[in-house]
Amino acid sequence: MENVDFDAIRHRVKLLEDTGDSRLFDNRDDVQCPVCERPFDEALETERRTEQLSPQSDLSFCLVNGTDKIILFTHATDS
Ligand SMILES: [Zn+2]
Repeated sequence: MENVDFDAIRHRVKLLEDTGDSRLFDNRDDVQCPVCERPFDEALETERRTEQLSPQSDLSFCLVNGTDKIILFTHATDS
């Protein structure tokens, strides 16, 4: 697995929600997703082993599974 440095882009996204073991970030600056290199909409960082997501239709995900946390990037699919 390629090592994705989320800390490098964390300062460019806005923290929306912090529950202690997961954090939701909003991308207002067209920061590129480190997985597919398209700008993402939101990023979810979690240390939880399980996470429930409520995706809307027309939404795609990129997932980075680090050693101690998972980071999920969301994209609205342009159709
Ligand atoms: Zn992506």
